[in-house]
Order: sequence, then C-alpha cells, then structure tokens
Amino acid sequence: FLGRAIPNFSESGEVNQWTGTFTDIDEFKQLETQKDNFLGIASHELKTPLTSLKLYTQFIKNNLEKAGDPKNANVARRMDYQIDLLTGLINELLDVTKIQKGQMQLNESLFDFDKLVDEVVEEQQMTSRHKLFVSRSGTIGEVFADRHRISQVIANLISNAIKYSPDADEVHISTSLHGDQAQFNVKDFGIGIPQDKQSKVFEQYYRINGSKDYTFSGLGLGLFISAEIIRRTGGEIFVSSVEGEGSDFCFRIPKYKN
Ligand code: ADP
Repeated sequence: FLGRAIPNFSESGEVNQWTGTFTDIDEFKQLETQKDNFLGIASHELKTPLTSLKLYTQFIKNNLEKAGDPKNANVARRMDYQIDLLTGLINELLDVTKIQKGQMQLNESLFDFDKLVDEVVEEQQMTSRHKLFVSRSGTIGEVFADRHRISQVIANLISNAIKYSPDADEVHISTSLHGDQAQFNVKDFGIGIPQDKQSKVFEQYYRINGSKDYTFSGLGLGLFISAEIIRRTGGEIFVSSVEGEGSDFCFRIPKYKN
C-alpha cells in the first residue's frame, strides 16, 4: 500500500485538516504488467504482416527494375525503406518486452570486431547523406560477444548521430583497444545534449523534445536497449556532449568475458 496525506485548507489558507489515503500499489503493478503484456502481443502481431509486406515490396521492386521502370522501382524502394523503419520500431518494442521479462538471450560467439564495424558502417552509409568516417588506433580483432546485438548497438549509435545532426555533413567513428577492452566511439556535430540530461538518455522512454527548428521521431528506447546489451556483455556505455556542438557516444566491452 502507498500512504499519502492530503491537506485540506481553511478559507484563510491555513491547513485545518489532513486526509489520509491508502492506495493499493498491487493494482498499479498489475496494470503495468498488463500494459507490458499488451505491448509484447501487439508488437508481435504487427510484425507478422509487416514481414509479408517486405517480401511483396521487394518482389515488386525487383520486377520493376527488370522491366526497366526506374521511376516506379524507386517508389517501391522508398516503400521498402519505410517498412524497414517500421520494423525497427516494432523490434525496439519487442526488445523492451524481452528485457522487462528477463528474456533477452545473448548468443555469444567469437567474431571480428573491426569487420563488424565496417559492415554496419557500410549499411548505414547506404541510406545516409552524411559522410561516415572510420578511424582505428590498432586492430581490435576477435571479440567474444553477441555479434547481432553488438551490431544493433553500433547501428543505433550511428543512426542517432546522423539523426541528431541535421545540419552537419560528417560523422566520425573510431575504434581502439585498451588492454583487453574494445572501445567504439561515434562523434557527431549536431544538436548535442544539455549537461543535466546526459545521464538520463539511457533511461526507458526518455526523449528530449526537439528544438523549435526540428522535431525528431523515435520511441526513446534505442539507447535503453543498447545500454542493456552493453551491460549484459560486461561493458559500459557513456556519452559526453556539448549542447549545440555535438555528442560523443562510446562503449567499451571486454574482448573476452571473464
Ligand atoms: P530515440 O532516438 O528513438 O528518441 P534513443 O533512446 O536512441 O531514442 O535516444 C534517447 C534520446 O537521447 C533522444 O530522444 C535524444 O533526445 C537523445 N539523443 C540520442 N542520441 C543523440 C545524439 N547523438 N545527439 C543528440 N541527442 C541524442
């Protein structure tokens, strides 16, 4: 139970009475669980038709390309991209449900970290007008972790860097080795994050409202999921940022789990 005391004021504005209330928190908890369950089921149900839609769109796109109809093929390509965005949002909701239920599994294996970074950068570069620069101090080589989940974190940090720097042309990515720790940095020259909000961006559903010039879409889940993946991998994730100048997001993970 949650106990609360609510003041009752007299006409002169003084407190003349207190009313005590007790609220059954179990009810709130039940509602929370119901909401989480609903999110999980709804996301799952939305994903199934979306998977078919993706296949149909690719089929149409390929046929239009073969038929030499670049204008309509381009429309199909845009549809395909929007389907990917929608799938990304639904996957975020599914991941959050998994995290809440303690069901996010990590499938760890040995993989080449530098190669993974190149792959994700190449993929992100295809849909971005920003130039993505990669620099390396040394080779990181093999890492034992969940390749798919680490690629998700890298993609999330790079896509945020692109999204939150609408007036910039470049994003700088770098990797480095610190003892047995692999480090990944992504630096943008965008809107930045106010000092007092920097620690909050990793919280679930936390978003900073856009400025009067820009609004940015999103669910406020990407960094929450990324932080959970990095924490579960035994690493740490940080941000340093100057409002109006840009942000530097960084994570470090052990090359091999102890
Ligand atoms: P989303 O981008 O979907 O809102 P995220 O969890 O990825 O959710 O990020 C949470 C919030 O952190 C964003 O809404 C934004 O306010 C802020 N943020 C994240 N990355 C950056 C960045 N590179 N520059 C400025 N703000 C950022």
